[in-house]
Amino acid sequence: MSILNMNTESYKKLIEEADMPVLVEFWAPWCVYCRRLAPALEQVAQQYQDNIIFGQINIDEESVLAEEEQIEVVPTLLIYQEGQLLGSIVAPESKAGLEDFIEENLNCLEARRDTKKHIYDMVIIGGGPGGYTAALYAARAGLDTVVLEKLSAGGQMALTEQIDNYPGFENGIDGFSLGEKMRKGTERFGVKTRLVEVLSLELSGEIKKAGTSEGPVYGRTIVLSTGASPRELGIDGEKELIGKGVNYCAACDGMFYKDKTVVLVGGGNSAAAEALILARICQKVILVHRRDTLRATRIYHEPLMKTENIEFRWNSIVTELLHDDKVTGVRLRDVRTGAENEVDCDGVFVSIGRKPATELVRGQLELDQNGYVVADETTQTNIPGIYAVGDVRTKLLRQVVTAVADGAMAVYMAEEYLAGSV
Ligand code: NAP
Repeated sequence: MSILNMNTESYKKLIEEADMPVLVEFWAPWCVYCRRLAPALEQVAQQYQDNIIFGQINIDEESVLAEEEQIEVVPTLLIYQEGQLLGSIVAPESKAGLEDFIEENLNCLEARRDTKKHIYDMVIIGGGPGGYTAALYAARAGLDTVVLEKLSAGGQMALTEQIDNYPGFENGIDGFSLGEKMRKGTERFGVKTRLVEVLSLELSGEIKKAGTSEGPVYGRTIVLSTGASPRELGIDGEKELIGKGVNYCAACDGMFYKDKTVVLVGGGNSAAAEALILARICQKVILVHRRDTLRATRIYHEPLMKTENIEFRWNSIVTELLHDDKVTGVRLRDVRTGAENEVDCDGVFVSIGRKPATELVRGQLELDQNGYVVADETTQTNIPGIYAVGDVRTKLLRQVVTAVADGAMAVYMAEEYLAGSV
């Protein structure tokens, strides 16, 4: 066991008395980011076991300590040396980000592996449902395959509390577990997942190159399955107030608003699902939507309208986040009349769609006006040997089942390409 389970007493004793640095993760059993971080944290703890003591504190069990340490978001990681707090980080988005945090603070460690030059048949970038389906099909077709994933299997799906529209699970399944099952399913056929961050891509030429946080990785074909991440409102203070009242995931952060009032911005399927999650936790949910009807499919309308603690503010947009050191409210503008009013709340959840993760391929792959990679059901992009699967490509319906279908199709196309017939 490379990570110690700690309580208040052992935590305080260790940070004062340990003869090496101590890194402690404050986590909670209901926190999906914590679950996503767990495999990377475990690997990093093993890498640095000679240099750092790793521990974990469950904030539900040690709530007084969490308050003392001003933990307002989980996972929060603190690093101590000789009783002094060296630094803290909230929800690192990749294993590489966690390693950078450690090295920035300790500046004395060299635990990253070198990568030997090896040319894979297929390099899959992103371990969501599309990526892992491609990995499964590729391995079964005998292709030498690697998945490069920055944090944990599942991608955005791993943040979804309950998935009921992916067949085969009679009681539904949570997104994190489904991601883990997909990863393990590929391991049966020899696929390796490397927890690295891809920093650059060179897609032209016969051998493609992915520059990663652990050196270059080479492949004859590349499957881009980098997905999409939450879109931001783009208003003043939004970034600075993340973790201080601004949130993008109800399943992840909703519990911090138990019995409180939150504003939820958006009117699509995600906003509808998040409103229902928040309504179970919070005292009141104020749903702010810029039109007078929901974009969400009809299946959500009745449950939403029937939920007593959801209030609707139609034809409204958030123009300002009101705050002291945390969010205290929002200013709304009626888009028809221009009238403004202030609404008190303890937190804001933003659920206004996604933006595709295509920065790495801008200038190389053809993108549409919203930044998605232009590719049809064949998943073929404008560069031979490069395939775009799942939420990152142009498509009508972004769902787990459609991402999975893309993964299978990408391998079919790649096999033809590798055989020289495309
Ligand atoms: P979406 O369907 O694109 O909806 C985005 C919502 O945010 C829209 O209501 C939009 O308003 C609003 N919006 C966009 N920009 C805004 C801004 N700057 N300020 C205020 N409001 C803004 O996105 P999504 O709900 O995240 O869903 C993404 C995809 O996943 C969709 O294909 C969806 O069907 C799918 N999904 C499915 C399920 C399911 O249960 N089957 C669950 C979640 C997601 P307008 O309506 O005025 O454009």
